[in-house]
Amino acid sequence: MSTATIIDGKSFAADLRTRVAEEITTVKQKHGLTPGLAVVLVGEDPASQVYVRNKAQQTVEVGMQSFEHRFDDKTPEVDLLELIEKLNSDDAVHGILVQLPLPGHIDENKVLSAINPDKDVDGFHLINVGRLWTGNDALVPCTPFGCLMMLKAHLGDLTGKRALVLGRSNIVGKPMAALLLQESCTVSIAHSRTDDLPARCREADILVAAVGRPMMVQGDWIKPGATVIDVGINRIDAPERGEGKTRLVGDVDFESAKHVAGAITPVPGGVGPMTIACLLRNTVVAACRQAGVEVPAI
Ligand code: NDP
Repeated sequence: MSTATIIDGKSFAADLRTRVAEEITTVKQKHGLTPGLAVVLVGEDPASQVYVRNKAQQTVEVGMQSFEHRFDDKTPEVDLLELIEKLNSDDAVHGILVQLPLPGHIDENKVLSAINPDKDVDGFHLINVGRLWTGNDALVPCTPFGCLMMLKAHLGDLTGKRALVLGRSNIVGKPMAALLLQESCTVSIAHSRTDDLPARCREADILVAAVGRPMMVQGDWIKPGATVIDVGINRIDAPERGEGKTRLVGDVDFESAKHVAGAITPVPGGVGPMTIACLLRNTVVAACRQAGVEVPAI
């Protein structure tokens, strides 16, 4: 039985970080520009704390300035909006990221809309959403951006490929579909109301799964030879590892899929590591655009 090529997100991400570090050295030398990223965290969510720590560490490692702002989970919305206003007008800050989710009393849309779109390195601001769908210079959401980079590195030109994006969230599914459309794929978007999902999946040369359902996509849903990008990160019980133990799995059943797909991203070690690397790249892009200097190609 054939076995899929494993698309190694860790090594892609390490390579991208190296290239971003080189870009930063270049813009520092040529333009005296040090890109800066501000990360805002509200509350004590343990997963968010880990993400924020990793982001700050990698920001510094590639030679950027890192600014961290932490608030407790009772912080009023107005304080957060005030900070964003300050960061918007701070010339040392080129990228602003508000770690989601925010506590229930804070209006997420209001906060994200308060960020200057040119500093919106998460690409969630409506202006960036509009720029992305109209083919203008957008800051693109990091997770789909990372998926696209891996797809292009693996497949080359994507023109004419049939792509199915499973999931229609604003942070993964929809921007992923927009990016694939920009690459001239024939794109379908599936969701919880889609009829006969396995049949729709089997039509796809490129299948991107972003549903948040552990191991939902089975091997026999996949077109033989297709490229499968598994965005899902799901923690499930793993009694085989001992009492109370858990493990991470994707939205694709890796064991059955790897015998059918031509290539597949694993979980962990696939899409996940690319997300922060793309955030760093977005910050360099944002810094160059704000300074009016050429954005280095990657
Ligand atoms: P959301 O919950 O926002 O969206 C899930 C989407 O999947 C929805 O469009 C939903 O459809 C669809 N869906 C849910 N159940 C089914 C089903 N049974 N059949 C078909 N479609 C279904 O999730 P996100 O997009 O935020 O995240 C998706 C996954 O990706 C999660 O596991 C998340 O942890 C992971 N993730 C990973 C990241 C990374 O860095 N690797 C970053 C972001 C997310 P409908 O709209 O109809 O409800």
